[in-house]
Amino acid sequence: MRILVVEDEIKAGEYLRKGLSESGYIVDLARTGFDGKHMALSENYELIVLDIMLPGMDGWQVLREVRSEKDTPVLCLTARDAVEERVKGLEFGADDYLVKPFAFAELLARVRTLLRRGPLRGEDLIQISDLEVDVLKHRAKRCGERIDLTAKEFSLLHLLATHQGEVLSRSLIASLVWDMNFDSDTNVVDVAIRRLRAKIDEPFSKKLIQTVRGMGYVLEDRG
Ligand code: CA
Repeated sequence: MRILVVEDEIKAGEYLRKGLSESGYIVDLARTGFDGKHMALSENYELIVLDIMLPGMDGWQVLREVRSEKDTPVLCLTARDAVEERVKGLEFGADDYLVKPFAFAELLARVRTLLRRGPLRGEDLIQISDLEVDVLKHRAKRCGERIDLTAKEFSLLHLLATHQGEVLSRSLIASLVWDMNFDSDTNVVDVAIRRLRAKIDEPFSKKLIQTVRGMGYVLEDRG
């Protein structure tokens, strides 16, 4: 498993390289966004760990360039825990986020999850248990039966399905599906989730949309 680490701070870069190498990965280190982009596009990596704050070409630019050509999973490192940053990252195609400073064990856990999951983009059909989300046709089916959804309901389901197994906060959902400011009323999310549940969960014994108290919602097959 080859991992590319893009990090300009020498100490932090070496720390990541050492830690990941000791965990069994082959690690290449890029010290600038330009080198990172070049290496990401010319080599085949299973994962990219990308620092956002880089001099010159920053992490966002690198992410955009990489996404225009490749589906390689990208774990972004940021110094700020701003919701706007997370939203921007998800829109640009980041697969996960870690706020600096972080414990190495946390990074390793995220790396393992991303490597297990593999690339997400380009998927036309997402399947969770007996639920099918057809991204191209904007249709959903459960147990083979078509479920009628409004455009917003589909957007919400698509977001949850793309991030299956990940808890998404109400504010993040509100900003991505409704383009709403994160501090506005997020009740709209609860209402929309209730409507979506009525269509995709209530008629079936297995529930897929889970509420995580105090955090948000996750689409997950809990068996
Ligand atoms: Ca940096």
